[in-house]
Amino acid sequence: MIATDATISLVSFYINGVWERPDGRSGGSITNPANGAAIAEVPYADADDIDRAVRAAHQAFLTWRDVPVVDRVQVLYRYKTLLEKHHGEMAATLTRENGKTADDAKAEVRRAIQMVEVACGMPSLMMGDSLNDVAAGIDCKTIRQPIGVCAGITPFNFPAMVPMWMYPFAIACGNTFVLKPSEKVPLTPTFAIQLLHQAGLPAGVLNLVHGGKPAVDALLHHPLVKAVSFVGSTPVAKYIYTTAAAEGKRVQALGGAKNHLIVMPDADMPKTVDAIIGSAFGAAGERCLAGSVLVPVGDAAGPLLELLVARTKSLTVGDGSQAGTEMGPLVTSDHCRRVTGYVEKGVAEGAVPLVDGRQNTPASGEGYFLGPTIFDHVTPRMTIAREEIFGPVLSVMRVPTLDAAIELVNQSPYGNATAIFTASGKSAREYSSRCEVGMVGVNVGVAAPMAFFPFAGWKQSFFGDLHAHGKDAVGFYTEQKVIMSRWF
Ligand code: NAD
Repeated sequence: MIATDATISLVSFYINGVWERPDGRSGGSITNPANGAAIAEVPYADADDIDRAVRAAHQAFLTWRDVPVVDRVQVLYRYKTLLEKHHGEMAATLTRENGKTADDAKAEVRRAIQMVEVACGMPSLMMGDSLNDVAAGIDCKTIRQPIGVCAGITPFNFPAMVPMWMYPFAIACGNTFVLKPSEKVPLTPTFAIQLLHQAGLPAGVLNLVHGGKPAVDALLHHPLVKAVSFVGSTPVAKYIYTTAAAEGKRVQALGGAKNHLIVMPDADMPKTVDAIIGSAFGAAGERCLAGSVLVPVGDAAGPLLELLVARTKSLTVGDGSQAGTEMGPLVTSDHCRRVTGYVEKGVAEGAVPLVDGRQNTPASGEGYFLGPTIFDHVTPRMTIAREEIFGPVLSVMRVPTLDAAIELVNQSPYGNATAIFTASGKSAREYSSRCEVGMVGVNVGVAAPMAFFPFAGWKQSFFGDLHAHGKDAVGFYTEQKVIMSRWF
């Protein structure tokens, strides 16, 4: 199926049930971030390719919407079985193009499978309400109907899971779909859709295209696209939301993040440090739920930082496919340079490096490595405190009280995720209720809701109304209709 490092594969479009090897398109090269080796060439769809994909999806919609939901989900049951069977291969593909460790990749594929499992429950999830005799002899019911062709545009950091926040729910509801994954990691979504093809999905129900802004723009302006789901950075999320909404489409656009981890003096420090390491440096910090600002309250800083710095210095950075690696490389050389630039800026603006990731990179090879970095005494005006870095860089901002921590968090333009570490139910409750953030962990470093709960942030981390997955996905991918009946 997918080529190994020894052979460079040309990534295909999947349109109307056919794998296409397009010639003559512009495109990009995919490299293995652990060693810089070229592994694939990805062609970028032009406006005609997008039009063909959308029209194929529209044609398929005219029959797929009438397939009973119990039959639609049979495809997803078979898909889940295939995903389970190929779990390891899919995770290895993910590590090869994205760089995350084998354990992180397997966990991501597991979460992707959970999305399919929840979407298999669509016969129950899609049920409407009914009430007889709302007036004499008149009955009323609501039904949910699919909306048509839906588009999904996804980021580089979760190429297995994030597309599955979208298409299993969309197609189970009776819609058809055009997926445009990140052009940096096209192999994992291709792998997943090869399995969906094997599961027997009818032609045109799911179409896969690749590319950057021109491909996205063609989707946003296509009159047959009725809904757009986006996950990525805040500036692009805002653009997608405003552009697609102006075209009259339904939109959900999940954006970037700057996530604060609050540590109270009464926290269990060893367990808190484990959670912070996972949150800040798991997946090399390339996670929208990654803790990127550590906020020790009062006396917490001393014992917390002593343990945290020692643990961080001992982390093994290397090729994610090798056993024992605790943190892999960054996704591309450009991104590695960008994140390293933030470390340089932190030093230049006067933050105190407690751990400098530039000194913890594997000795040999051409990989895109930057070790975990911790800055102390970061102030709100510093660039590293304000901007999303999306790498393994943790900024420490000390505050005297919980009130000051809440004020700091609520001044952030982002509101994706946060966590508080404490032994006090009162502090946890106070923080959970007053912080202006969409997902909150209490002694949990990565507040990632499960597939059956909705997922999204607040403020500049989300544009739209209905969140990803859970019951919100059913609301997003269906239109409600009210039917009043009287029989003479
Ligand atoms: P990105 O915004 O650069 O790209 C996301 C998608 O948008 C890609 O498919 C890309 O091709 C497309 N795109 C990029 N620039 C575009 C433009 N100008 N016009 C139209 N489309 C464009 O994001 P990324 O670098 O792939 O992913 C990292 C970002 O995603 C981070 O900001 C991270 O916080 C965010 N993210 C958010 C969540 C969430 O749930 N809120 C989840 C994962 C990642």
